[in-house]
Amino acid sequence: MKDTFLEELRATDTKGLSEFSARAPIERARAVLARGHADTLEDFAALISPNARPLLEDMARLSAGITKKYFGMNVRMFAPLYVSNQCVNNCVYCGFAIRNSIERKTLSFDEVRQEVAAIYDLGFRNILLVASENPKLVSSGYMDECIKIAREKMPDVSIEIAPSSVEDYRRYVASGCEGLTVFQETYDEQIYPDLHPSGPKHDFKWRLATPERGIEAGMRIVGLGALLGICDWRRDIISMALHAQYLTRKAWRTKISVSLPRMRPSAGGFKVLPENIPTDADIVQIMCALRIFLNRLSIVVSTRESRKFRDGIMGLGVTQMSAYSSTRPGGYAHPSRDGEQFCINDDRTPAEFASALRAKGLCPVWKDFDSAFA
Ligand code: SF4
Repeated sequence: MKDTFLEELRATDTKGLSEFSARAPIERARAVLARGHADTLEDFAALISPNARPLLEDMARLSAGITKKYFGMNVRMFAPLYVSNQCVNNCVYCGFAIRNSIERKTLSFDEVRQEVAAIYDLGFRNILLVASENPKLVSSGYMDECIKIAREKMPDVSIEIAPSSVEDYRRYVASGCEGLTVFQETYDEQIYPDLHPSGPKHDFKWRLATPERGIEAGMRIVGLGALLGICDWRRDIISMALHAQYLTRKAWRTKISVSLPRMRPSAGGFKVLPENIPTDADIVQIMCALRIFLNRLSIVVSTRESRKFRDGIMGLGVTQMSAYSSTRPGGYAHPSRDGEQFCINDDRTPAEFASALRAKGLCPVWKDFDSAFA
């Protein structure tokens, strides 16, 4: 294992693995299923091959069994809280990019408190504070205060904000932050700069090393993700699986989670090539393959996905789901769909969604952590 994930990624032929995946013989996937475990990244690539699609039901059965073994019937519920959409970056696929003229807002501390209270009243006890990239939010101590406010009511607070230094993350941990999520968006080092033409996010290496900095600072949970649809999803998924495997080995005490977000329409109007978007069946196949490759991995599915799809994948491998999300700062205390980062696709209330989980024999878990455990 290399000293950093950047070295690991550069030393791994993810392009070759993606090409192998596109034409891997079905026998390879069949052998993995017969063994009951994917031992190598090549095994994983074979499982997500289009040639393995006839084995999807077998994969789903194996994935469901492994999920039950390690997670029981539990599905962790969480809500994202967007505290700011003021962003200095220019990601070509995002409605919050600096070039877009949308209403910009950073919540006051009173408004953060109102949002936290509204989310608490919906039943959530796990909250993800989300902020666009704005250096002032970090230098002014704004995020530290948001974390403290959220912790007044919430036992479990995570952040999804601009990549920060180890020192900043240590402060957030000291303020009560448990987890860090950072999506690499794409692991393709060549394409990445074109998708992120300006702003601090242009720096591929700084972003890629963020999870390692978070772990060094003491984050208990680290979330990864690739934004599927902005380029070749097969290569990105293989790279993300490599990333999760690397961090699992390097930081065995940290809980690693992955998200599988697909591009949704946004205020930015980014045109997605249809061949770059994984289909519903592709996502199910990816999720099952991840579970068979990394048994203890947390897998997150958000409200970007449709109600029908979310109902269909319950029990197969997903372990964390959001519900009734607002992607607009202030959207819980004052509901409106205007000015969202992207359009959500399942607008059931948390109570309705929890009922849907129970109808499938699953258990919605609102609180799964208390600082007394630490
Ligand atoms: S994806 Fe994030 S960093 Fe990029 S423009 Fe949107 S909010 Fe800013």
